[in-house]
Amino acid sequence: MIAREVLAAYLDDTLSDVETAQVEQALRQHETLRRQLRGLLQERDRGEHSVGAVWRRNRLSCPSREQLGNYLLGVLEPGPHDYVEFHLRTIGCAFCQANLSDLEAQQQENTPQVQERRKRVFHSSAGLLRKK
Ligand SMILES: [Zn+2]
Repeated sequence: MIAREVLAAYLDDTLSDVETAQVEQALRQHETLRRQLRGLLQERDRGEHSVGAVWRRNRLSCPSREQLGNYLLGVLEPGPHDYVEFHLRTIGCAFCQANLSDLEAQQQENTPQVQERRKRVFHSSAGLLRKK
């Protein structure tokens, strides 16, 4: 009998030619297998096996954006801090790393120096506009 994983690989077109031929032969012979394949296709249409769905399931272990922000500020408790660090460095979660660099950029924009610079740029350009 053909395993569900093999059927999934067949749908993904990741089997070798020989394996593909075996699956197709089995599909021709067994109605149950055809039913299984149809079921698998329906699940996929509902998105249960899409990359996005798997991603969302895995992301349940992700720290919140607020936690990431506190991590950046260095104000997390040791426990949560270690968890976020583990999640970012060891697991290397791409989603949280992206989130973190976004937060980092935001925090940098909010430093007094940057705010001061912005004010100057704003006033000088306002001056330029008036002169025109
Ligand atoms: Zn994450």
